[in-house]
Amino acid sequence: MSAMLEVRGLTKHFPVHRGVLRRVVGQVRAVEDVSFDVAQGETLAIVGESGCGKSTIGRTLLRLIEATAGSVRLEGEHVLNQPEAKMREIRKQMQIIFQDPFGSLNPRMTVSETLAEPLLLHGLATAKDVREKVSNLLETCGLQPWHAERYPHEFSGGQRQRVGIARALATRPKLIVCDEPVSALDVSVQAQIVNLLKDLQQQFGIGYVFISHDLAVVRHMADRVAVVYLGRIVEEAPTADLFARPSHPYTRSLIDAAPRPDPGEKTARAPLEGDLPSALAPPSGCAFHPRCPMAQDLCRTERPALRKLGQARVACHFAETVTATGLTTAAAPS
Ligand code: SF4
Ligand code: MG
Repeated sequence: MSAMLEVRGLTKHFPVHRGVLRRVVGQVRAVEDVSFDVAQGETLAIVGESGCGKSTIGRTLLRLIEATAGSVRLEGEHVLNQPEAKMREIRKQMQIIFQDPFGSLNPRMTVSETLAEPLLLHGLATAKDVREKVSNLLETCGLQPWHAERYPHEFSGGQRQRVGIARALATRPKLIVCDEPVSALDVSVQAQIVNLLKDLQQQFGIGYVFISHDLAVVRHMADRVAVVYLGRIVEEAPTADLFARPSHPYTRSLIDAAPRPDPGEKTARAPLEGDLPSALAPPSGCAFHPRCPMAQDLCRTERPALRKLGQARVACHFAETVTATGLTTAAAPS
């Protein structure tokens, strides 16, 4: 069975310029050789610290940023390197929801205008029935039809995100990239938006690439999780497995660093130390080695390949030990 979305070897380097001549002095390796699949109606979460390349992955999928290398296929159709005419058709199938719904909505357009635009552009509504289709979209996203004549500043954050979702939904996409869709919202509102996204997924069979740094949200939302470190996937596994038995020390650290619902829980913690290194000059070998409590000599010289381990994929020389012990203190640093 082939996946709805197939991403292979996705890579994005940003050149770094210096001086008046704007000479290229280096490359920020924002995304390196990223491959994953998303099935119809499935949510793949992409998690990692801020600056790890999560958003760049999301944006290159839709070509809001052009990839340096790799391929993206939606239902077998290549997305990268398509001429603009073809891209219009593909964009209908792939949408994005941003973290800040305020920043992504035009303040001078009413909600009705904002939603009518994609409907008319893609021939999904006519001048005659566009009002009705806008009303339907609003209702599907939990807003009242009378909201249509309001401007973004007249809404709460949660309502604005509902408008953002309605706009993404307008073209009946097969896939939506959700880039930190609830991070800017109050915790009480987050659950409502997450539940709306889940309802819409069930109703329309949409696949999500769900970008987030919030593990609690991801645990609730995702079927599978890909953990990204310095632009590379270091672990990918079904959600329950990843939280129960992380196989990569970085995944373990992220889980340890996340706030726990039960403060009485007696699990040894190994919180993450040090900052994310620069993607301009990533560390040798395993890029996580300067922060890894399990790092050995091998880790400093040899980059671990992303390999299959049970249901997971993991890039760590000692993944078996991490999985078996569950703790990062098992091996003494050399
Ligand atoms: Fe740590 Fe080595 Fe595994 Fe990298 S390969 S995560 S440094 S143990
Ligand atoms: Mg981001």
